[in-house]
Amino acid sequence: MARIIAIANQKGGVGKTTTAINLSACLAEKNRKVLAIDIDPQGNTTSGLGIDKKSLDYTIYQLLIGECSLEECRLSSDIKNLDVLPSNVNLAGAEIELIGVEGREYILKKHIDPIRDDYDYIIIDCPPSLNTLTVNAMTTADTVLVPIQCEFYALEGLTQLIHTINLVKQRLNPQLEMEGVVFTMFDARTNLSLQVVENVKENLKQNIYKTIIPRNVRLAEAPSHGLPINLYDPKSAGADGYRQLAVEVIENDEAEMYERNEISEIK
Ligand code: ADP
Ligand code: MG
Repeated sequence: MARIIAIANQKGGVGKTTTAINLSACLAEKNRKVLAIDIDPQGNTTSGLGIDKKSLDYTIYQLLIGECSLEECRLSSDIKNLDVLPSNVNLAGAEIELIGVEGREYILKKHIDPIRDDYDYIIIDCPPSLNTLTVNAMTTADTVLVPIQCEFYALEGLTQLIHTINLVKQRLNPQLEMEGVVFTMFDARTNLSLQVVENVKENLKQNIYKTIIPRNVRLAEAPSHGLPINLYDPKSAGADGYRQLAVEVIENDEAEMYERNEISEIK
């Protein structure tokens, strides 16, 4: 059964989408069956995985407002082992349209629960706000992965984010856990990046991924080619980073399954 990871941080530009695209692709490269769900109206995970977001008949928007089925909007990508639930700008209207709809926090979950067995991992890219769309991602997910950009204001907003995760856990999804934080855009040439990492480690009582994603221009270029980094530039530092993150996610997941006696050995 898939582990479902929501990638969330209400700050824009911290590396959520870059992480969603490349973690999904690197898990798929490791022969895991992956579904990438784009629940951000910007649709950058959709286009970054090579799907033309303007030419879609159905997107997650129609799914959420009840105008299409999951099968109608689920796409298989050109990348082996990787399916996508795409999004585009139409999704911006969903927030308003869902006002007053009973059970609106659970719409995505209702559609995803029945297909959990089709995948090993389901990765959800959230919009940069704590709105109904993000709440839908968090009620569907097992864990929340929080990218933190290595910059001066890194910790700003994190208290609010953790508070939101706790509220969702208390009221909507008791299973929800913090997957952990991952540092992104680390620049080894600056002291600031190092200081941010040290500061967060001291102040944040959360799991912190050992993998640190470097600032790497190839990661910024790849989306305009509709390719994840492991296919766009397999030897880049960015590809190394996200491959390592995928390995760490798999290792953590398998260690947990082993503890729960769901598997008999760690591969
Ligand atoms: P978010 O989804 O949180 O808004 P993005 O993943 O879209 O953030 O990243 C914001 C910008 O920074 C994008 O232009 C992206 O290409 C770039 N970017 C993200 N991660 C890196 C990185 N590690 N190195 C260089 N550029 C990056
Ligand atoms: Mg984004």
